[in-house]
Amino acid sequence: MQIILMGPPGAGKGTQAEKLTQSLAVPHISTGDMFRKALKEETELGKKAKSFMDQGKLVPDEVTIGIVKERLAEPDCNKGFLLDGFPRTVPQADALKKILVELDMGLDAVINITVLREILIERLTGRRVCKACGATYHVIFNPSKDDGSCEKCGGELYQRNDDKFETVGNRLDVYEDQTAPLINYYRAQGLLLEVDGTQSMEKVLTDILMVLGRE
Ligand code: ADP
Ligand code: AMP
Repeated sequence: MQIILMGPPGAGKGTQAEKLTQSLAVPHISTGDMFRKALKEETELGKKAKSFMDQGKLVPDEVTIGIVKERLAEPDCNKGFLLDGFPRTVPQADALKKILVELDMGLDAVINITVLREILIERLTGRRVCKACGATYHVIFNPSKDDGSCEKCGGELYQRNDDKFETVGNRLDVYEDQTAPLINYYRAQGLLLEVDGTQSMEKVLTDILMVLGRE
């Protein structure tokens, strides 16, 4: 399956992708995770992305499109892919179309996870991530059983810099301005499938599998 997971920051894309990648047996490609890895490793890419990420702005299209093009050309994507957090602008979506043609790939569906802004702020500011394995928790909605550390690997939990209250509003505005237009972009192509992301994590997963015809 060749799928895009769309939705505003905090909609639950990463949470669902973690589970979907197992059920669908395709790699999870998160541009946000790729940038955070580059930042941690202090690579050239990380240096380029840092100031944009810290301010809650989008990393420029030419940088982002380049890393996705390289990643989709890797052999494990022959089985399909689950894109999370890409595309986020119309030029990125146009570029993806071209890349997929070049690689002789297609797109089966674009799943849009919808959640209201007030809930998103609560989800983003309460999100905690494992420093070691990247697992995602929430202080109220999905707390780790091992207080302060990751229940999967024991790693330390931290709050992402861009999840601080001051940056979250900016990220949601950027989403409305630059990413939300992609909803109609993919609807017009008959690819859009919508799922209510305000439900429990388990129900959101069931609904995604249902709209994909897998349940
Ligand atoms: P995204 O990848 O779309 O930015 P995440 O998957 O990281 O979003 O989820 C954002 C936060 O909301 C995390 O702390 C996560 O644990 C929590 N979360 C995700 N899905 C739900 C849900 N259905 N109900 C309540 N909290 C959720
Ligand atoms: P995410 O983990 O998806 O919330 O992304 C975290 C940050 O990484 C975003 O706020 C952007 O600064 C950057 N980023 C991730 N994906 C993209 C993208 N497709 N285009 C531009 N910037 C991105």
